[in-house]
Amino acid sequence: MKKGILFVVSAPAGCGKGTILERVLKDKKYYYSVSATTRKPRPNEKDGVNYRFLNKAEFETLIEKQEFLEYAQYCDNYYGTLKAPIEENLLQGKHVILEIEVQGAMKVRAIRPDAKFIFIAPPSFETLRQRLEHRGTETPEVIEKRVNAAKRELALKEQYDYCIVNDVLEEAVKDFRSIVRAEELKVQP
Ligand code: 5GP
Repeated sequence: MKKGILFVVSAPAGCGKGTILERVLKDKKYYYSVSATTRKPRPNEKDGVNYRFLNKAEFETLIEKQEFLEYAQYCDNYYGTLKAPIEENLLQGKHVILEIEVQGAMKVRAIRPDAKFIFIAPPSFETLRQRLEHRGTETPEVIEKRVNAAKRELALKEQYDYCIVNDVLEEAVKDFRSIVRAEELKVQP
């Protein structure tokens, strides 16, 4: 069986990557890697589905046991990708999607040069701020932090293989699928 491809997707908060991925992941050829985090769950989030929600001590135990492929601190919380399910799913022929921020993505680039890196950018910072405010799940202070983080993250988009601008959702979903298809069709050296 042909091995799956590892895709690393980064996007500043509020870029609508959740909506794009929700659409793309309806296809069973993907495995979405559920990260661990110390952030508190949002009202609609479920443990084991969106994240494994851990406290700081639990997270640090997993760091010590070297169970993470990568982990990073982002806006005062830990986020990390667990190693175990990734290889397992790639071997089963599934494409594995890591949805992680830029520091983590750069760590994965060093460890897994076979991975493909996709950046999702907002059409503008104003749109980004509006989307965050509209979501209504964060305080103005957190929104400010996230907009600033987004500005820093956007500067790193050159490090990625592909960049999708999420202006019109349908188009962005189409772009994502096209990237995956192109990678599937690539002739292996
Ligand atoms: P949020 O709190 O909005 O769910 O996520 C904040 C940021 O953390 C997002 O950019 C998201 O992609 C990133 N993130 C989620 N899981 C991981 C992970 O396992 N590792 C890293 N490095 N970043 C992650």
